[in-house]
Amino acid sequence: MTLLSSSSIKFGRLTVYFTNVKTALSRSGLPDLDYALNPYAGCSFGCIYCYARLYTSDRRASERWGEVVIVKSNIVKVLGREARRMPRGVVGLGTITDGYQVVESIFKLTRKSLETLIGEGFHVSVQTKSPMVLRDLDILATGGGKVDVGLTITTLKPEIAELIEPHAPPPLARLKALKKLSEAKIKTWVFYGPIIPGLNDDLETAESIASLSAETGSTLYYDPLRVKPFMLAEDYPLREAALKAKSREFLEGIEAIIKRLCIKYGLECRKGFEATPLTSNMSTL
Ligand code: SF4
Repeated sequence: MTLLSSSSIKFGRLTVYFTNVKTALSRSGLPDLDYALNPYAGCSFGCIYCYARLYTSDRRASERWGEVVIVKSNIVKVLGREARRMPRGVVGLGTITDGYQVVESIFKLTRKSLETLIGEGFHVSVQTKSPMVLRDLDILATGGGKVDVGLTITTLKPEIAELIEPHAPPPLARLKALKKLSEAKIKTWVFYGPIIPGLNDDLETAESIASLSAETGSTLYYDPLRVKPFMLAEDYPLREAALKAKSREFLEGIEAIIKRLCIKYGLECRKGFEATPLTSNMSTL
């Protein structure tokens, strides 16, 4: 660790800045969520498809995605004030960052935010790629039916994960975390997305993720790649896949596979960011 100045620290390839925020909760436009809470801006996991950078206003993080993280030092204090006076609702924790990225092991802003929100009677919906979420099982367990945790699992093949999510915990670690959460009776879901043509859209991958969802009693969210302008740049590594992802053939093919698997495994399936379920706890055919 290198101290660069009073307001930034260098951890290996990562530069960490600190800031104070005026607000903590923001209104969410996502279905099923009333609010979003992001204790950090930027994300050291640096997934190459991540478009959270487009919604991150701090340019230090958005322009060097994966290399810069901004710690919102006072967010727990601000959240405490807001949580006491704002209408209760569902808070998505980690909508444009991962609340369990590496810096969380030091600053614990996600843990303290969970304590505050659950203590004030909010429903918290966490999405992460990290088994660090297990550290907070003690708090999650106090939320009763007002807590759910989603693990993003794009593939169970480590070589594909290394390519698209170079600094995120490996798929096996996420799988184990999901199983432990499920064993602890926490409501869980799996986010299979983005689904990228030629990388993780094959039947074997889809079936392994559907079967894991069934084994853990998780709802399965699936999300075909949403093509953003930066993905069409000549030097973007997934450019070819991004072009294919726009085709009706790809989208209809994925939809058909997912629907078949969700019926086969009796899963509740939802398309990411859409309110209507594709299937709902359908029985095995
Ligand atoms: S973990 Fe999520 S927020 Fe972080 S880089 Fe990957 S997709 Fe983006």
